[in-house]
Formats: sequence, C-alpha cells, structure tokens
Amino acid sequence: MTTGHQVFDPPPPVISGLRQRCPRCGEGKLFKGFLGLAPACDRCGLDYGFAEPADGPAFFVMSGVGILVIAVFAWIEVVYRPPIWVHFVTVFPALIVGCLATLRPVKAWLVAAQFVTKAEEGKFESLGRHDHDPRRL
Ligand SMILES: [Zn+2]
Repeated sequence: MTTGHQVFDPPPPVISGLRQRCPRCGEGKLFKGFLGLAPACDRCGLDYGFAEPADGPAFFVMSGVGILVIAVFAWIEVVYRPPIWVHFVTVFPALIVGCLATLRPVKAWLVAAQFVTKAEEGKFESLGRHDHDPRRL
C-alpha cells in the first residue's frame, strides 16, 4: 500500500538518459513511441508535462555525429582516396544510423537534466516599465 509520500533517490541524469527511464524513480518508461514522451511515469506517476527539450537533442546529436563522421570521412579521403561511391555507401548510412541511435538517449538525458535542475522557461516579475511594481496595485 502506498502512502502517497514516497521518497525518491533520482539517478544521475546521464544514467537515466542512457537507460531512457524516468528521471525521478529511474524505473518507469520515459518514451511512448520512438521520440514521443509518455504522459507520465508508469511507476511513480511523475507527470512529464515539465519536459520541453525542444530542438536540443537534435542539435547535439547532429553536431556530435556530424563532426565525428565527417572527420573520419575527411581522414579516409586524404589517406586512401577511395572512389566516391565508397563515401556514399559509408558516410550516409553512418550519419543516419548514428543520429537515430543516439537521439533517444540524448533526449532522455536532457529531460532528466531538466528535471534534476528544475529548469523552466524564464519568468519576469515586471513587463519592462521601470515605475511598475506588480506587488503594488
Ligand atoms: Zn518514475
């Protein structure tokens, strides 16, 4: 029987990201489908509504995989000078497989980091008028 006041020891964001699990309990599934987040944790009930990684995972994955694959491509081109079809059958699949393989863990990692650091959109007390204090109405 649960009391409703469970104490959780969240795993480090990198661990829950690599396991693609809930950032609070480390056990529930984070994803529903390939990249869509589940509405809530199926173990602890954490509402995933806070999670908004936006373009972050795609940016980091494209940058990391792109730099790595293109560096290997350039090295092979300079050292071995293979025909262009070798690059077509190696570089494009490496880019696609590399991005698809790392997108989910990176997105899960960013969601876990967002949960642990309680990151959210900035909120302003004032709308910019220097003489306006929202506490004095
Ligand atoms: Zn959970």
